[in-house]
Amino acid sequence: MQLLLEHEHSFINGKSYQTQDMFAVLNPANQHIVKHVSSVDEKGRMLALTGAKHALEQLRLVSAVQRSEVLKKWHALILSNEEMLAELMVAEQGKPLHEALGEVRYAAGFVEWFAQEAIRSYGETIPSQNTLVQLSTIKQPVGVVLGITPWNFPLAMITRKVAPAYAAGCSFILKPSEETPLSAIALAKLAVQAGMEAGAFQVLITTQPAELIEYYCQCAAIRKLTFTGSTKVGRLLLSQSATTIKRTSMELGGNAPFIVYDSANIAEAVTGLMAAKFRNAGQTCVAANRVLVEQGCMAEFISCLTTAVAALKVGDGMVAGNDLGPLIHEPAKVKVEGLISSALKQGAKIHYQGAAETGLFIAPVILTHVTPDMDIANTEIFGPVVSVITFTDEQQSLSFANGVEEGLAAYFYSQDVSQIHRVSRALEYGMIGINEGMISNPVAPFGGVKQSGLGREGAKQGLDEYLEVKYLCQKFD
Ligand code: NAD
Repeated sequence: MQLLLEHEHSFINGKSYQTQDMFAVLNPANQHIVKHVSSVDEKGRMLALTGAKHALEQLRLVSAVQRSEVLKKWHALILSNEEMLAELMVAEQGKPLHEALGEVRYAAGFVEWFAQEAIRSYGETIPSQNTLVQLSTIKQPVGVVLGITPWNFPLAMITRKVAPAYAAGCSFILKPSEETPLSAIALAKLAVQAGMEAGAFQVLITTQPAELIEYYCQCAAIRKLTFTGSTKVGRLLLSQSATTIKRTSMELGGNAPFIVYDSANIAEAVTGLMAAKFRNAGQTCVAANRVLVEQGCMAEFISCLTTAVAALKVGDGMVAGNDLGPLIHEPAKVKVEGLISSALKQGAKIHYQGAAETGLFIAPVILTHVTPDMDIANTEIFGPVVSVITFTDEQQSLSFANGVEEGLAAYFYSQDVSQIHRVSRALEYGMIGINEGMISNPVAPFGGVKQSGLGREGAKQGLDEYLEVKYLCQKFD
């Protein structure tokens, strides 16, 4: 099967589904058209739902071992096409090629992990008070799943959902971001090549997500909604899912604190921050959004950090040696620049700023004298801006760190064992990097608390998100 056509379309029941309603996918590095893609119509969305319902019935006859084999083949196909997938991702999303290759492997890692977990969806027997009654549980697929994903990780956010859903025996309707539809389509074509049933993985492309998703939210046949994206849209989707009481998983926005204590190894803290802040030009949900530095180590930390930031190269992700690609679109750049100017008006100072950039590129910035009440400390920056807040003691660091509505990822650097114990327990976040700036891993549970979401992806918990527990109470004579 040809992976990409001259023009691309939604992928429904194992085939391209074409409409005349075309739009252009642009390369954020130069605004060139990568491809024209068509938006799905009403007939397409009905076909996708009917096909997904049919695939769910077919999957009831496919064993967990067989589903595991399909996932293993899908994993192998993703890896054997890694260069093509990475280049496609750079073209539609903008991240540097080496990061894109890293994402392809990370995405494949979820498929591999859930190929292994597919065969472990065990039920239980429960000791009964009555010897003539046997109590047990079995796990069954939730049903047809609707998934919505963002543009910042065009492959991994999809495999993190589709692989466990398929492992559990669910069929899946995906609406990827309209900014990065091509990666999603390529992934679905590889899944079908791997032997996934037509209709088990539908990809619907649209420039009108609100209308499509509102329609699907009202369909009782769709039993689960899994969303990765902003907290604002997640909140709306939760309310829309209430009508038909869908199971929901919400992977929403973050506002990660990155805390550097006086006892930290400063060189390691800077290395960790560079990874946690500048990957994907700062456009990650687990990006260090507020850098909290204890007064005693501020001078050494800021000097080390400035050297590292000044070495960053901004430019097209296809050019070897570039570290920071463009932001995804104009509103993203306007938002980051607005946050910098509001911070300056509120009393922050520019400690370092790279040379001015054009187009959607933006120079890295270090802001100092930031305080927890500023807009920049209470908004997901999603850009290459380090915003530094100083603190005087551990209690104050925790009050600053926990004083926001989000609770996705947090990081801290310390070499004091007792402090590590106290702080890791006191931080109100779903994931904590302790002397480590890169925490995402298919084998570990990813997810947030507070307004950063509901549920976990990856790890053994990721499979349960797509399974219902059924209790069986059997009486013997
Ligand atoms: P977004 O919420 O604007 O869009 C996400 C998806 O929702 C896209 O597919 C979009 O088309 C769709 N969408 C937008 N409006 C909709 C509506 N009214 N109804 C239905 N669907 C709608 O987010 P984004 O800008 O694409 O992504 C960035 C956000 O995603 C950030 O907040 C980031 O933190 C978050 N994110 C979270 C995680 C996580 O695992 N927690 C991972 C990656 C990104």
